[in-house]
Amino acid sequence: MIYADIIIDISHEKLDRSFQYIVPEALEKEIQMGMVVSIPFGKSNNIRKGYVVGLSGEAKFEPEKMKEICELCSNEETTESRLIALASWMKENYGSTMIQALKTVLPIQETVRAKEKRVICLNISEERAKEILEELENSRCKARARLVRALLDEKRIDHALAVKKLNATTSVVRKLAEEGIIRLETNEIPRIPIDRETVEKTGEFPLTNQQEQAVEEILEEWEKPLPRPVLIEGVTGSGKTQVYMKLIEYVMKQGKQAIVLIPEIALTYQTVQRFCGRFGDKVSVINSRLSQGERYEQFKRARRGEIQIMVGPRSALFTPFNRLGLIIIDEEHEASYKSENSPRYHARETAIYRASLENAKVVLGSATPSLEAFSRAQSGEYALVRLNRRYGNRPLPQVSIVDLREELKAGNRSVLSRKLKDALKDRLNKGEQAMLFLNRRGFAGFVSCRSCGHVMKCPHCDVSLSEHSHGRLICHYCGYEEFKPQKCPVCGSPYIGGFKAGTQQIEQVLKREFPKAGILRMDYDTTRNKGSYEKILASFAAHEADILIGTQMIVKGHDFPAVTLVGVIAADISLNAEDYRCGERTFQLLCQAVGRSGRGEGPGEAVIQTYHPEHYSIQAAAAQDYRAFYEEEMSYRMLLDYPPAAHMMAVLGSCADEELLGQAMHYLELYIRRVYPEKDLHVIGPACAAVGKIKDIYRQVIYLKHEEYRTLVVIKNKLEKYIDINSGFRKIYIQFDFS
Ligand code: ADP
Ligand code: ZN
Ligand code: ZN
Repeated sequence: MIYADIIIDISHEKLDRSFQYIVPEALEKEIQMGMVVSIPFGKSNNIRKGYVVGLSGEAKFEPEKMKEICELCSNEETTESRLIALASWMKENYGSTMIQALKTVLPIQETVRAKEKRVICLNISEERAKEILEELENSRCKARARLVRALLDEKRIDHALAVKKLNATTSVVRKLAEEGIIRLETNEIPRIPIDRETVEKTGEFPLTNQQEQAVEEILEEWEKPLPRPVLIEGVTGSGKTQVYMKLIEYVMKQGKQAIVLIPEIALTYQTVQRFCGRFGDKVSVINSRLSQGERYEQFKRARRGEIQIMVGPRSALFTPFNRLGLIIIDEEHEASYKSENSPRYHARETAIYRASLENAKVVLGSATPSLEAFSRAQSGEYALVRLNRRYGNRPLPQVSIVDLREELKAGNRSVLSRKLKDALKDRLNKGEQAMLFLNRRGFAGFVSCRSCGHVMKCPHCDVSLSEHSHGRLICHYCGYEEFKPQKCPVCGSPYIGGFKAGTQQIEQVLKREFPKAGILRMDYDTTRNKGSYEKILASFAAHEADILIGTQMIVKGHDFPAVTLVGVIAADISLNAEDYRCGERTFQLLCQAVGRSGRGEGPGEAVIQTYHPEHYSIQAAAAQDYRAFYEEEMSYRMLLDYPPAAHMMAVLGSCADEELLGQAMHYLELYIRRVYPEKDLHVIGPACAAVGKIKDIYRQVIYLKHEEYRTLVVIKNKLEKYIDINSGFRKIYIQFDFS
């Protein structure tokens, strides 16, 4: 016997109110998650429609009392039913409850009515209204008279205002409406998060030959019976956006819709301007600064077909278009495409699955593709399209690497190397602009030697140790611990410590060195106020400053033609994050940073300062050689069984009680080894998570590595059951994280 969980109302508050029904035997083979079914409902057994959100062999209450599903309405496949099917796939493949998954994919329908503005207006001519006003005044209907008089003055009055200022109660309004004297209108306030006034119409640019060819190759792929996802490997400045827009136009001509995912950080005025300039009011944009209501409003417009293109970060993937034709993921390698909440989905895989449900196409683009995407392109799972020339045949910047150890030896202890200082001086003389970049992402208190560059690492895991209180250095992968040495174990230098250099310090140094230069700083501190981010960028774009200093915020997707110098203050910061991906992140960040230089008329230059000039991530970034980087990095991943060479699942446990958590994680480990004793599964941990405690909640993690994703999913499903059945886990919050 199969039982189905059905929800009747898919508004968010009611998602957890599902009802279990018996699936008649004749329907067992056909029934699927997300399907619309008709069911007898309530005491009177009225026939209602509902969505299938769960299927299982276990009854939640006595089957004798359970009703049966009447029929499947398979011809009624809706956008919602497809999104529910997607949620079910996410639950299975990333691990979460069905409700968490549903809440992720279905638009949050909160307090919709609050956003509707009700307006009162006259339903009769002015002459007639004046007569009625007289009648009302004569018969002392003061409240009604007041309202009509006000309407004669103002024509339209906000309902809420009428109630408040004119003291018009609901019964007053209702009576006048019933008599046909006034009319109530609900004006939904359009919440368009784009300032249409400021958008300039930009027509279509003719594509370059290479761009044209890329479009052709993609359309060829789309002609195939089973089109694969396409990965565009396009160097910075090659005009990937132009290619995206051409493809969007193509699907729109077929009456279909497009979703364009962009990392939040790159979702700037410039990007919005580009898409709106080309597609006008067919586009809508969402970002994390919109309220839930505003997002919902945009999703509703998409559902009604009022817009054809949605541009936004990860969550825009769930835009409820009816005729989805294309999903584009720009800067596909970005870490922000992975959700940090359960279900911890990756937008890339989820997009590909959604597209498969709706017969849509997927295009990924990056100058520095993720190892996952590129290895799939190598194996033929994705189609690969290359753009290896910058627009206008502009040369890639000249990059030099500066060894900071040599600077120290030569007595220069400033954060600016001699080379970078000279280059800055030169730009200032020529009136050109420069950007200084501090890649702080992944900065987690690693400890290194300033004399030789040696970094304290875990002897078992090949990740750097992080500094904790009382001078302890800890490995967050295996739990290994040691005390911070007084001297560098390699060269004996006493200059060993945590790396500390912030954007603010760099700004001070620059002000001292170049008192006349205009300097802008963009980091967490200077962008906390609304609009300040845009203001800094606009000011720099208008050449009101000579130098822009910033964190990774400044390197994404910006196009400042007058920038001819990019300086990377310390490339090592992201190299020493304690994560197997840090080599990849460093390469990506450096390429992005270097790629900001020389996008206009003048040739570009970049200076990378580092303690590890020989490191392949830095060497490959300096040469802008993705392939060389890929080969090196991939062999490292193969050697250590890291993704994409194998799949990895983290089991994250959190609990306020450290001892209880420790016990629970230990039991999970034992259970994992029992249900999957084979040697091809690597189990690491339990160990303290990267951040071992957040707000007094302890966190521990077990890593599982296996060649087959499916094996990990099977183990996850078993763990979910085990955790569900055993009351010992009730106080522990367990999450799964796949990579
Ligand atoms: P990418 O995203 O690949 O780094 P962009 O799409 O930002 O590159 O393009 C880089 C610059 O070149 C932009 O200023 C863009 O307007 C310009 N550009 C690219 N292709 C064309 C084209 N076909 N016609 C005119 N300008 C173009
Ligand atoms: Zn040393
Ligand atoms: Zn370790």
